[in-house]
Amino acid sequence: MITRKEFLNNKPLVVAGPCSVSSRDQIIQIAKKVKRYGAHALRAQLWKPRTEPDSFQGVGARGIKWIKEIKEKIKIPIVMEMLDPTHVGKVEDVVDILWVGARNMQNFELLKRIGNDPRPVILKRGLVSTIREWMGAAKYVGLDKVIMCERGIRTGADSMRFTLDFNSALVVKHDYNLPVIIDPSHTAGRRDMVKYLTRAAIAVGADGIVVETHTNPEKELVDKNQTISTKSFKKLVSDINKVYKIIKSLN
Ligand code: PEP
Ligand code: MN
Repeated sequence: MITRKEFLNNKPLVVAGPCSVSSRDQIIQIAKKVKRYGAHALRAQLWKPRTEPDSFQGVGARGIKWIKEIKEKIKIPIVMEMLDPTHVGKVEDVVDILWVGARNMQNFELLKRIGNDPRPVILKRGLVSTIREWMGAAKYVGLDKVIMCERGIRTGADSMRFTLDFNSALVVKHDYNLPVIIDPSHTAGRRDMVKYLTRAAIAVGADGIVVETHTNPEKELVDKNQTISTKSFKKLVSDINKVYKIIKSLN
């Protein structure tokens, strides 16, 4: 099992992969590329929370064997969103880092189930959650294994999909001493802004990022407009390392 400490030894932590897993070939191709270009873990979402019931809901449990194959052959740690308490046990040998999405940040039965599991957890902030609510959720999943993820909140600003709240990321990190990563993809909602928000995330001292990446973004079934290509991802990792080096030299 990977502990949170081991996982965060990757400085800064880079998690990449598609918004959703759609086929074996798709996720294998992406896993190979993002690993080669510097990702420390793969986003491999089999279950997707969707606003509309007729939207693609994810491939579900039939994708577990593909992810197992990737874990064994490509050897990249797997991060996966749990939508339901029953998912947690189903992916025991496959998933290294559990993930709670924004819409489920206050799904308390899910949080309790995840809290009973030893694996580290990425906990996304709810769409309009306060620090107190986000911290409450963090206590349910376990303060010793949580990695907080700021993914933008809904505010009066409608310039992009959400508003990236750097202030909260800083408060969580400095006042509550929790690791925090940033999701530039969901806050931007558009791929051309991802690199700027990523550079800013590293500059404020975030512990890492999670970024939606695809070998062919136009083919992505969910969130394709904010998904960057694996080619852009390669450049992004180089930017991240450059910004990180400067920030480290200032501390
Ligand atoms: C996602 O990461 O694809 C996702 C659905 O994010 P969020 O839960 O932050 O909306
Ligand atoms: Mn997405």
